[in-house]
Amino acid sequence: MKHNLTITLSIVITSFFMIACSHTSYQIDVDPVDQTRFDLSSAPATLTEAVKIRTISFSDTSATEASAFDSIHKFIMVSYPNIHASLEREVINTHSLLYTWTGSSRELNPVILLAHTDVVPAGWDSTSTWKVDPFGGIMMDDTVWGRGTLDDKMSVFGILEAVESLLNKGYQPERTIYLAFGHDEEIGGDKGAEYLAGTLVDRHITADLILDEGGIIVEDGVPGITLPVALVGVAEKGYLSLELVAKGVGGHSSMPPKQTAIGVLSQAIVDLQEHPLPSALDGPIREMLVTLAPETGFPFNFLFSNLWAFGGIIKGQLAASPKSNALIRTTTAPTMINAGFKDNALPSEARAVVNFRLKPGESIEAVIQHVEKVIDNPNVSIGIYGKGANPASKVSDHQNDQFKAVAKSIRQTFPGILVSPYISVGGTDAIHYEDVSNNIYRFSPVQLSSERLDGLHGSNERIAVSEYARLINFYIQVIRNSTGPERLW
Ligand SMILES: [Zn+2]
Repeated sequence: MKHNLTITLSIVITSFFMIACSHTSYQIDVDPVDQTRFDLSSAPATLTEAVKIRTISFSDTSATEASAFDSIHKFIMVSYPNIHASLEREVINTHSLLYTWTGSSRELNPVILLAHTDVVPAGWDSTSTWKVDPFGGIMMDDTVWGRGTLDDKMSVFGILEAVESLLNKGYQPERTIYLAFGHDEEIGGDKGAEYLAGTLVDRHITADLILDEGGIIVEDGVPGITLPVALVGVAEKGYLSLELVAKGVGGHSSMPPKQTAIGVLSQAIVDLQEHPLPSALDGPIREMLVTLAPETGFPFNFLFSNLWAFGGIIKGQLAASPKSNALIRTTTAPTMINAGFKDNALPSEARAVVNFRLKPGESIEAVIQHVEKVIDNPNVSIGIYGKGANPASKVSDHQNDQFKAVAKSIRQTFPGILVSPYISVGGTDAIHYEDVSNNIYRFSPVQLSSERLDGLHGSNERIAVSEYARLINFYIQVIRNSTGPERLW
């Protein structure tokens, strides 16, 4: 019996190793492109000027500075003469832009490149940690500094530079290309992307490929991998905020009940944090581990290749860090709380808001049911807070030619780095385009350390001139690999 067990064990272990070793790389083998073949010398100065234009999205939409968006429209027109001679330009819902570069073949479905012209406020005051004025348009140490240099003016202007450069060389796409630049991504895209996508739907346009901002190239994001990894979002998580209202008895605080409204609400919040929604290694995170398994060394290749056996261990590891925990479950984040008005009075009500980011496959109803079950208290009412909720996006295929076109472009411009599917944990404009394409990818072509990543909505946001040139080359390759004679499909 013992002998049989030993044989069984050794067969199981051997099969683990065979699975681990049998996987060859999923990475596309390509030669790097010559990054100097286009003259991009004027591009950084143009981006520097664009940073000065304060296209800020405030959460109060009435505060939107219309003149800033008019200015950036004019600036784009004077900066890119070829584009304005060859592409059709439309202003959608007053501040968003739609450019059409008509392809020579009417039979081919178009591709759409998305980006957004708006930025978040910069918090530039005496307490700020910015080293330069975030709207100053500063070029320092071969780097363009300021709000929007990464999110997302680098892509708006990077895409425009790519198109302008290709036009300069006489490039004619076979497939039509749309450039769609929303103006309110940072506050949900309801006025920009929603209208841009609606315009395309009204025109019965189905795109073969949509590329928006999203995952970046991380330097140390994946255990067991020393090479940088380009994380291409094949989906984005959903969004739900719930308001919890705990009722209590008001009155004087000298004779309090066992739990006041604040106590009841606090208990509910603690219970929710102690009972997170279940984790799972499915969907994009599973595909990510499978894709990267052949690139890792022991023991990660062994573990990643045998998720059926080691899923529990891996989930435990991923759950330990907030960044990776967000990839495996619907997250729970209490974000607002409000109760009480006087130190000696019992509040009759206490309110809190909890924000959830839904993983694919988890419905809004299921999250609400989970919350009701965990809190299990008739004195706490639960309702949707704010302007609404959306489930996670559809999950796009990562084995089709469209994904390959993106992956190939990455490997041509960032030689030697790995490419993996991934789920974007933040929202993007792309969520509004679900009716326009089944092949929606979210990727920002820039390699960032954790410190630089913090700059995205924080301070000292910046992009090096060399990084910007690489980004433009990436967009040039995406256009060539999807619309020209070298296109993959
Ligand atoms: Zn953005």
